[in-house]
Amino acid sequence: MKEYFEKGLEKIGMFFDEDKIEKSLKYLKLLKEYNSHTNITAIREDKDIVEKHFIDSLLLQSLLRKEDREIIDIGTGAGFPGMPLAIFNLDKNFTLVDSIQKKTKFLELVKDELKLENVKILCGRAEELIEGKRETYDVGLCRGVSNLSVILEYEMPFIKVGGRFLPQKLVGTTETLAAEKALKVLNSRIVKQHEFILPYSNEKRLVIEIIKDKKVDKKYPRKTGIPLKKPL
Ligand code: SAH
Repeated sequence: MKEYFEKGLEKIGMFFDEDKIEKSLKYLKLLKEYNSHTNITAIREDKDIVEKHFIDSLLLQSLLRKEDREIIDIGTGAGFPGMPLAIFNLDKNFTLVDSIQKKTKFLELVKDELKLENVKILCGRAEELIEGKRETYDVGLCRGVSNLSVILEYEMPFIKVGGRFLPQKLVGTTETLAAEKALKVLNSRIVKQHEFILPYSNEKRLVIEIIKDKKVDKKYPRKTGIPLKKPL
């Protein structure tokens, strides 16, 4: 698997060293072990985990900037995209959020085993964790959680003015059209859409780059469940 992972990283133009590969493979092993008794991800084959979880997460690397220090990943599940990025960016702090305890318990295990001091794990819903964390992150991440208008309401309140939200979507999504009102209400705008290609399956991926221009009204995110039930 080591060679498969390294080749994949080379194909997406990603720099790596032995330590990062070793930590990633340890994470892969822990994920498979944990998933064998507690279901936390549907992707089970080594090659699929490497490409669809690890490399897919690392596609974001080229969009991160040196000055980005605090990064939040909401609805990280088994740690994607936040955990692989934390392994490859020890100089940035990653806050990984998920509302399901069996997932955050696994993330704590990975953090301990890999000795990742730049990772913080929070169990809870974005709507409730916002307390005390408004406008504190340079970058927000989110993959596979919900429609763009819903995740915009989860994420934008956490992000600093001038900071960016980089949600991962599939190419061809029409969610940007439906999110026009949410963008406006949350003082944000799409600056660019970046297309990527996965190295083995050649599947296309999209990262939307969204910038926050002004503070977000404190009434957002609305109460737990409302952003999903009644999207902006
Ligand atoms: N990002 C991961 C997991 C996607 S599954 C990946 O791409 O593989 C979506 C996850 O989002 C679930 O684990 C769910 O518990 C979490 N989630 C959904 N709504 C949430 C909310 N409002 N706050 C925090 N976590 C949420």
